Amino acid sequence: MKVYNTLSRQKEEFVPLEAGKVKMYVCGPTVYNLIHIGNARPMMVFDTVRRYMEYKGYEVNYVSNFTDVDDKIIKKAVEEGVSAQEISQRYIEECKKDMAAMNVRPATVHPLATQEISGMLEMISTLVDKGFAYAVEDGTVYFRTRKFKEYGKLSHKNLDDLQAGHRDIKVTGEDKEDSLDFVLWKPKKEGEPYWESPWCNGRPGWHIECSVMAKKYLGEEIDIHAGGEDLIFPHHENEIAQSEACNGKIFAKYWIHNGFLNIDNKKMSKSEGNFFTVREIAEKYNLQVLRFFMLSAHYRSPLNFSAELMEAAKNGLERILNAAQNLQHLQKNTAVDMMTQEEAEIFAGSEAFVEKFEKSMDDDFNTADAISAVFELVKYCNTNVTEESSRELLEKLYQRLESLCDVLGLILAKEEEILDEEIEKLIAERQAARKEKNFARADEIRDILSEKGIILEDTREGVKWKRA
Ligand code: AMP
Ligand code: ZN
Repeated sequence: MKVYNTLSRQKEEFVPLEAGKVKMYVCGPTVYNLIHIGNARPMMVFDTVRRYMEYKGYEVNYVSNFTDVDDKIIKKAVEEGVSAQEISQRYIEECKKDMAAMNVRPATVHPLATQEISGMLEMISTLVDKGFAYAVEDGTVYFRTRKFKEYGKLSHKNLDDLQAGHRDIKVTGEDKEDSLDFVLWKPKKEGEPYWESPWCNGRPGWHIECSVMAKKYLGEEIDIHAGGEDLIFPHHENEIAQSEACNGKIFAKYWIHNGFLNIDNKKMSKSEGNFFTVREIAEKYNLQVLRFFMLSAHYRSPLNFSAELMEAAKNGLERILNAAQNLQHLQKNTAVDMMTQEEAEIFAGSEAFVEKFEKSMDDDFNTADAISAVFELVKYCNTNVTEESSRELLEKLYQRLESLCDVLGLILAKEEEILDEEIEKLIAERQAARKEKNFARADEIRDILSEKGIILEDTREGVKWKRA
């Protein structure tokens, strides 16, 4: 399996630190708002990487944090007159709902920055002891960037060029030794959440959070560190400096970064205001369509969001789902159990598409080509099965299609349709609940039915229902 490594700017053979195991860290969102579909791109992409690794037989320890202390969270809390914790908790819950709807599996661990402060204090102390960090008068602790000789190795930046860019921007009140030095710990401001430390009451810088959480949950050396390409500099460059200066070991072997999701060929971002939340898209589309759209492009390419491409994704996905449904329908109705010799050959012929799929995924997770292998398998199924096909063949082809779609995080099985008599039974139960003034249960039943596309109408003649 080949993986493009931002460190070497090349595709490299993937060799895990420990045979059969993958330790992977993905930088998660800052939780002060509903996530937008740009944030959803790394979630879907790296969930697919994880799924493919598992498909190949690796045991994957997948860690992804929530940044739950940050200027933007505090600002939102002040605006709403609530605590920062209330804001972060609310949006973590909302983010988890979106992830589930996008079929992004929960990480092995989702650490929260605010729960890991002691590890941060420990790492900062080690850096101070080793001469890689220093505190100034007001208690701010800075990383001594020039002391880390390999600074710039990930972003391929030269320190002197960086310095030139900084020359005239001396921020008043900052007394750091060098303009390249970055914050590890900073003093609290009035009304902000804070923790005690040897330097001042304050809170951590953003970069130290990930170095510490990766170390705690995965160890000092990890296989893969991932995130959006905007994180390469300074976030990931700084993480490398902190972790490698502290631990004296190479932090991550492979650095993987996704390209941006754009809109009108401009980066989709909260600060620009040109974004769609995942929730907004969910009003119009099943989120499987969004996932299919994201995976239709290579993860390192920029991807432009448009209504046309979403429609194309919807149609493409439907072709796959229809083929799967057809296989299931035939399977239910066929009179033949076992595969014939000829059918065994048909099944063996479908192996070629699995090989093509794996070859594409082995080439730096080329999901676009992997999807075309799925389409070829779909076409092959459609042309090779009939009402006379055996249950065994139909089942095997379905499973083959399902296992490839599962790597992409696409769910084939359509929800079972609810039968008329079940609907009538639930309506009767709702009426009884209402009579007993158990309105919670009555509303719950209405929601269950509405999720299944059943609309209730209370009329003078009683409750009427229809399918949406
Ligand atoms: P943030 O909440 O801004 O820290 O972002 C969380 C993750 O989403 C990071 O990995 C970002 O790189 C990624 N991200 C943010 N905006 C986009 C975008 N428009 N396209 C792709 N990835 C993005
Ligand atoms: Zn991070």
